[in-house]
Amino acid sequence: MAASQTPTPADELRGAGLRVTAARVALLEIVRAGDHLGVDAIASGVRDRIGHISLQAVYDALHALTAAGLLRRIEPAGGQPRFERRVGDNHHHIVCRSCGAVADVDCAVGEAPCLTASDDRGFLIDEAEVIYWGLCPDCSTARSSWAP
Ligand SMILES: [Zn+2]
Ligand SMILES: [Zn+2]
Repeated sequence: MAASQTPTPADELRGAGLRVTAARVALLEIVRAGDHLGVDAIASGVRDRIGHISLQAVYDALHALTAAGLLRRIEPAGGQPRFERRVGDNHHHIVCRSCGAVADVDCAVGEAPCLTASDDRGFLIDEAEVIYWGLCPDCSTARSSWAP
């Protein structure tokens, strides 16, 4: 994938060996424009563009695009899965405990897995998945203003 030129969603689908459908194109565009969207937000965005589509069809398309490496799925504990277009760089996420906002955190050092296990137990590690938890700036401001 050339860095200088952004391929269209249809190009990306073809490149991944997937059939190009209006729903998949809309889905890729919505996830790209959004910020770690959940399935409900993605489904309503797709419906705005192409009309009715079942939630199951949205799940199926998300699954196909994730399996093809066009989307990345992140699943904070206790939350809905989120989807994003930033794939392949093993970046991490920070999640707000209060409102569920998600932000990207670049690898602290080096390339994937970018975190070295103190003991790999003989496994060949190629990825580390880290979720940082805390309060986003909005929520931490709100919380400090509640303080007595
Ligand atoms: Zn928050
Ligand atoms: Zn991300």
